[in-house]
Amino acid sequence: MSLERDVDVIVAGSGPAGSAAAAALARAGASVLLVEASAHPRPKACAEYASPRIAEELERLGVAGAWRSRAVALRGMDLHVGAHVAPIRYADRSGPRPAWGLDRRTFDALLAEHAAESGAELREDTKVVELTGDGSRIDGAVLRDGRTGREGAVRAGWVIGADGARSTVARLLGVERPVRAPRRIGLVAHVAGPPGLVDHGEMHVGDGYYVGLAPTPGGELNVGMALPMRGRGSAADRFAAAIAGIPAVQRRLDGVERLAPIRGTSPIGHRVSEVAGRGWLLVGDAAGFVDPFTGEGIYRALRSARAAADAIHGGSEVADAYRAERRRAFAAKSALTWLIQGFLALPWALEHVVARLETRPAAALRLGSALGDLRPATDALSPRALAEVLAP
Ligand SMILES: Cc1cc2nc3c(=O)[nH]c(=O)nc-3n(C[C@H](O)[C@H](O)[C@H](O)COP(=O)(O)OP(=O)(O)OC[C@H]3O[C@@H](n4cnc5c(N)ncnc54)[C@H](O)[C@@H]3O)c2cc1C
Repeated sequence: MSLERDVDVIVAGSGPAGSAAAAALARAGASVLLVEASAHPRPKACAEYASPRIAEELERLGVAGAWRSRAVALRGMDLHVGAHVAPIRYADRSGPRPAWGLDRRTFDALLAEHAAESGAELREDTKVVELTGDGSRIDGAVLRDGRTGREGAVRAGWVIGADGARSTVARLLGVERPVRAPRRIGLVAHVAGPPGLVDHGEMHVGDGYYVGLAPTPGGELNVGMALPMRGRGSAADRFAAAIAGIPAVQRRLDGVERLAPIRGTSPIGHRVSEVAGRGWLLVGDAAGFVDPFTGEGIYRALRSARAAADAIHGGSEVADAYRAERRRAFAAKSALTWLIQGFLALPWALEHVVARLETRPAAALRLGSALGDLRPATDALSPRALAEVLAP
């Protein structure tokens, strides 16, 4: 197949954001080339705990039944800080809603397959290595086939950068910015699921770091952690030391076998100065990612993909429409996420909040539902809601 031809849209990256954008655009009739640097199923360093609202996004895309058979429903996340445990649960008007434990290898492969079935052309082992354009507008990309080393230019009406937190597209556009704070490394591995931890996740905050435990399909458990950038020893040493440093995690994982290599990313996070311009849009992590503590990256990837597809499908003022929709969808939630990051930097304050949430289930449910995008984040940011969790 020739690499030189024209399409409506090139999507760089087939993680959740890229596959969702490609599927939505192809279903709307666009010719879409979905380019993936690796090949599915591919590993992804992720704690694999997904927000309840991924269900709606996946149903919109038409993947409803298939993904549920590869996910475990979880009633929420117990947040452990010091001696306190706050139950983070989710509900909308119709009642309680589950979060989801996923296996990213099979989940991402399923979404890429769905994009192809929806009409997008999926090219694996192929990277976007350059963007083309006349200086005023991006009009395509140069692709490199990883097997042959051949390069070729493809012209496109739009290039969507969905190539994750180390986005080549963002770098080539010159919109990537340094991550100043929080600066953490992420380590994850699957272990055999310990008995008693099958229907919920746990988040344990230690001294300057945190460890998440999330059941995944097949009876396994994802152990994910965010650690300070500076630290001694190999990833395996740091992984073991982080577990040993929080007695409740150590007890949970005592004698449990590790089933897969430790995967990492450093630093976690990505910043950009702009998410859209003439001929290009960034979606998912490529458009910016803060930290996995609030477990929403996969939902944001799917939600931003929908916003991008709708904006392109809408046809006029695409970049403005995309920015506006992102503001509607994410602005209040981002404020809540940054507030929580502030508390993570102040362990005594976080412990106080968790102690109050422990004895106030309605407040914990409000916060959980806002974090799960089931009610507006502004509900958790109102003066009354803040007073309830912050009062001495
Ligand atoms: C340690 C850690 C734990 C996390 N835990 C959670 C969690 O529990 N819950 C949650 O919701 N989120 C979590 N996240 C965030 C979540 O993983 C991301 O938000 C999500 O994967 C974003 O999806 P994406 O499609 O934007 O990017 P990705 O999933 O990263 O996909 C990007 C794709 O682009 C491909 N690519 C890269 N460069 C190129 C190129 N030049 N050309 C073509 N293809 C390219 C890559 O191979 C990859 O397949 C975590 C993140 C980290 C780092």
